Amino acid sequence: MSTNCLHPESPVDTEDSDSFVCDKNNKCYHKDCYDRMMALSNDMALINDLWTKNISTTVNYAELRKIVNSYLDRGVEMDYIIFCLQYVIAKRMTLNYPGGFRYYLDKKEIKEAYEKKQTQKKFEEMRQKQKERTGQDQPSIPVGSQNAPSFAIRKQKEEGFGSILK
Ligand SMILES: [Zn+2]
Repeated sequence: MSTNCLHPESPVDTEDSDSFVCDKNNKCYHKDCYDRMMALSNDMALINDLWTKNISTTVNYAELRKIVNSYLDRGVEMDYIIFCLQYVIAKRMTLNYPGGFRYYLDKKEIKEAYEKKQTQKKFEEMRQKQKERTGQDQPSIPVGSQNAPSFAIRKQKEEGFGSILK
């Protein structure tokens, strides 16, 4: 049996039915390759959906896919590409055609926002794991801790203001 995978030197093992998948057109793929292909196809559908709903209904899909593929080939994560598009939409940045997407994919501001999000995600995962292991919830990122002294100062001010009114 031949496969539709792009590595004909390793045909699917027909003896091992768990190792390959055939789609509805009877094209067969190694299971790993099929899973990768489906994940890519779902991600591209999401990008297309975001684009047509928020940017342009008449997007040149082939051009958009070509740009996304060229970034994936360079080792850029699909998660980042989707994040970048969501960022551009959320911040109402100017983007009208697929070619312009390159500018944002390379934009430092968006790369930094993504890295920050990844760091927070890792922290939350660690926290979750710790919670599962110990049964105790850890405090989330302690943003409020440095506010404690200023709260005390504010309280004194309020008391002082109250005494003026008397
Ligand atoms: Zn394959």
